[in-house]
Amino acid sequence: MNASAKLNLLDLDQQALKEFFAQLGEKPFRTAQIMRWIYHQGVVDYDGMSDLSNKLREHLKSETRLALPEVTHEQISNDGTTKWLFDLDSGNGIESVFIPETSRGTLCISSQIGCALDCSFCATARQGFNRNLSTAEIVGQIWQANQRLGGGVAGSRRITNIVLMGMGEPLLNYKNLIPALKLMLHDQAFGFGKRRVTVSTAGVVPAMDRLKDDVDVSLAVSLHAPVDELRDELVPLNKKYPIDELMAACKRFVATDRKKHITFEYVMLAGVNDSDAEARALIQCLRGVSAKINLIPFNTFEGNGYHCSSQSRMDRFRDILYKGGLHTVTRKTRGEDIDAACGQLAGKVADRSRREVKFVQPRFGEQS
Ligand code: SAH
Repeated sequence: MNASAKLNLLDLDQQALKEFFAQLGEKPFRTAQIMRWIYHQGVVDYDGMSDLSNKLREHLKSETRLALPEVTHEQISNDGTTKWLFDLDSGNGIESVFIPETSRGTLCISSQIGCALDCSFCATARQGFNRNLSTAEIVGQIWQANQRLGGGVAGSRRITNIVLMGMGEPLLNYKNLIPALKLMLHDQAFGFGKRRVTVSTAGVVPAMDRLKDDVDVSLAVSLHAPVDELRDELVPLNKKYPIDELMAACKRFVATDRKKHITFEYVMLAGVNDSDAEARALIQCLRGVSAKINLIPFNTFEGNGYHCSSQSRMDRFRDILYKGGLHTVTRKTRGEDIDAACGQLAGKVADRSRREVKFVQPRFGEQS
């Protein structure tokens, strides 16, 4: 059997593993055993799983695999932020970023190779889209980061929070995302608290509704503009799911839990979305939604025409929101020197969407 055609057990959440062992006629406790090896002990070699019977190990070796994305490059910023590049298949790479703070460590992971959404201010968008990540490739980023941070025991080098804010739109990779989220939450796997796992979306409304029924995690919505005309330009997905529909979905998402809120991300683009009038429109737009606002200083990358708002403009914008009753924080830019800041993750994408022709003039004689 072709090795990559074998079932990768890292693609299975706890329930699916249970079913897998049941089909083999194995006892249910095998699930807890193997999950402990993989996720708690960091063992992904069947021979190292000493409490599995020889017969079972041989069977697993011949019929399944434990395949992780490989780290090919590590960069450490002078603020301690660490970025890893993973090689997935030749020509494709994704990135994850670890952001240490005094009392927590956040790992920002990718969900797709590239992105199809084409947001005008995002570096990933420039690269087009190749494919969805598998469940194993999503959770494999956490597994690898954990190992490289020394098993995750030392203070601020420990991963305490996961955000799906790297490359890609997680809710457009729903099928593989859900088991990955379940593994993040499950005690026998990574065991993160439900408020410590955040899915960030540009606003895929139907998937937001499904998510709230399927798994209990936090949600961040990339809003970036308070009115449709401007949002259509910045986040083209808005043409499909305009602000009214998006806000209605946000309200439904938090409706069953009074303690829940949605984090709205708003990238600060000088002269584009940062006026006093836009701050007031944003207050209007978020009326009735349990919200926190994250203002993100725009991080620049080569070949775009945007600039970050000035510090005084961002402060003024934040103050207007604050006075309007909105809990607002300005996100600190981290890891800029290694291109690890929000929107700078580019990895390596063999674009299959052919959208790059919109941005890059083909050279003479080259086919577009
Ligand atoms: N597709 C998802 C998750 C990936 S983007 C989403 O849209 O939410 C993660 C966050 O980084 C989003 O809020 C995105 O809008 C923001 N971002 C993208 N490009 C940026 C840039 N150049 N500067 C600052 N933030 C950016």
